[in-house]
Amino acid sequence: MSRALLVTALVVVLAACAAPGSAPAAPAAVPVPTAGPAAPPGTFVVPAGATIVIDPGHDGGNGRAAAAIARPVPDGRGGTKPCNTTGASTADGYPEHAFTWAVSQRLADLLRARGYRVVLTRPDDAGVGPCVDERGAAGARAGAAAVLSVHADGAPAAGHGFHVLYSAPPLNPAQRGPARALADAAVTAMRGAGFTPATYIGRDGLDPRADIAGLNLATVPTVLVECANLRNPADAALARSPEGQQRFAAALAASIG
Ligand SMILES: [Zn+2]
Repeated sequence: MSRALLVTALVVVLAACAAPGSAPAAPAAVPVPTAGPAAPPGTFVVPAGATIVIDPGHDGGNGRAAAAIARPVPDGRGGTKPCNTTGASTADGYPEHAFTWAVSQRLADLLRARGYRVVLTRPDDAGVGPCVDERGAAGARAGAAAVLSVHADGAPAAGHGFHVLYSAPPLNPAQRGPARALADAAVTAMRGAGFTPATYIGRDGLDPRADIAGLNLATVPTVLVECANLRNPADAALARSPEGQQRFAAALAASIG
């Protein structure tokens, strides 16, 4: 296109934009809370200064508190679930609770460095619980914009990779759209960090679930990320290494924009 034509075309476009009252009414702008001009594409947008709850799965004391963690609590869909479980472990005994605690500490550091207020659902890796219904309520209690629940799976050894759980069918407005958006953001971030969607469960890294009390009871956008399969040797090596833990934490942090 010649310069003269280009200028003419621009003038026409500008004139069209400026024409008063002649254009058909534009549709009303619909607020999209999960997208903003400054956020990287595919992230779940949380404003700086807002609160994010990190929920490190299980707890280091659960193994010696069988009765306490077996106590039935509401599952959010009319039934009950055990208060908590001991979680998975690698073939040589590295426990899921230690993994989730390590990744959650690193994730908290990364998010705090970006100006977020971070609340964890447990203060250390030596206690019992909290129960899954308390974890499900933690986001609302903290006034959180998002909740990231950190886990690792204990599936048959041949399978590997991550999957992101969200409540489905949804039970409230936060679950109806925002939780799915957060799940999509987590999948995008995990894939972007080089992690493989699970080869043995879910679809393309997403795992809609009705049986997770902590997701059913959540009234703010909440996902549960099974970062890896601890029974798979390659995933286990990654999960127990400080470098791997930092990669998981960085990927989860990158899901928040
Ligand atoms: Zn778990």
